[in-house]
Amino acid sequence: MKRYVSITCDFDLAIGKANLNEIVYRLKKHRDSLMLRMLKEILVAYDDLIMERLTQTKIYPSKMRKGPGRHVRKDDAEKRFCRGRKVYRRGYRDRKIKTVLGVLDMRVRMAECLTCGSRYSPLLNALHVAPYCRKETNIEHEVTEAVIDTNYRRLIEGRSIDISLGGVHNIVVGSDIDKAFQKDIPAEELYGIMADGTGVKQHKGSKGELRTVIGISQQGRVVPLGSFVNTSWPEIENVVKERIKGTADRPIPFVYDGEPGLDDFLSGTAEVQRCAWHAPRGLYHALWEDGLKKKESQPQIDKVKQLVGIELPSGDFEILKEEDKEPVRNRYEKSKKEVQELISTFYEKGYQKGASYLENLSKRLFTNIELWLSTGIIAPKTTSLIERVFREIGRRLKRIAWGWSDAAVTNLSKMILIKQYAKDKWEQFWKEKLGIKGYFNIQIQTVEINLCPTF
Ligand SMILES: [Zn+2]
Repeated sequence: MKRYVSITCDFDLAIGKANLNEIVYRLKKHRDSLMLRMLKEILVAYDDLIMERLTQTKIYPSKMRKGPGRHVRKDDAEKRFCRGRKVYRRGYRDRKIKTVLGVLDMRVRMAECLTCGSRYSPLLNALHVAPYCRKETNIEHEVTEAVIDTNYRRLIEGRSIDISLGGVHNIVVGSDIDKAFQKDIPAEELYGIMADGTGVKQHKGSKGELRTVIGISQQGRVVPLGSFVNTSWPEIENVVKERIKGTADRPIPFVYDGEPGLDDFLSGTAEVQRCAWHAPRGLYHALWEDGLKKKESQPQIDKVKQLVGIELPSGDFEILKEEDKEPVRNRYEKSKKEVQELISTFYEKGYQKGASYLENLSKRLFTNIELWLSTGIIAPKTTSLIERVFREIGRRLKRIAWGWSDAAVTNLSKMILIKQYAKDKWEQFWKEKLGIKGYFNIQIQTVEINLCPTF
């Protein structure tokens, strides 16, 4: 079904005096109200089209009446749907519909079912606006986004959306965000895992603890793994472990910033980033088992020490130039090769224990360098990424979550994480929630100026 919308506006322009600011300023004032009026016209047309189908049963075969006219059978305690698709017209009813563009005041057509006698509005049914629906997802989306961006006050005031802070709280708590985004994460996609905690102010100024676990993908992107309020680390560990499926071909470093209680976090799933500087000590022991004396093994140990001691430039990774990363990359590649050569030498000399120790070690000897080269994270001392993530969450939570419950803070921190770091998933989530499936599209055809007919 295709229709045209025509819009007629008139403007008055003082030639040579009107400037850009004034023109834009005036246009902006009409933005929402213009859309609201268009919406109203579209809905009136929609209402007429549905009613025509439900009443003109001779013109429209039952197949064409299948979609519209769905309603609950009159006085049915079990709320079963009626099969009837023929109706009488029963006038209009005034109805206010809340939208993000503003509140729409319109008359909707009423119908009476020939089969069961139920009176209903076919338009509201088609729009999925229940007769006494208090929670409208249309607003929920905007409010949620506004809360995350900490500008919900402006949204509410600017668009006369009548919602209190308590209402915002209810939307956040009632969100099904905790049911979404629970998909398993394949271990091989993760390049690293991090966790940290931060204090949040809650009800009556009491202090809560927000804990967040994130993964870093192979592409260096943040993969939210979980956000928790006032939850113990072992509980968090269980939830996160449950979500990570399969095994990676190399250990996933788990990086954390000295948080007590995280020393064995995710053991079996991730590898706590071990200090590469301790590696030579282990080699001494292995070579001793191969029968080497200290003075024989010392040069080998020094060699490994030197190979793993790649210094990383300090400072923020993002502002480093490629040429600053280049020396690290070169040295990393050279060192990797030399470790392999050393392993071969050990085998040649018959140092079985030393060779297999080094071979085993070599798989994660440079994990921190590889991690840094692709993400800028300095392991095991995390600097940029998780701290930035936490600053992001903390800044927003501090401004909006004062006095909020555990459930609200948990949901909110999840939303902030997902909106910020998994934009495509966030959009997909809302598209599904809002039921956007491509059943309505609108394009601007032409915008042109015509002379005023009274000229
Ligand atoms: Zn009926």
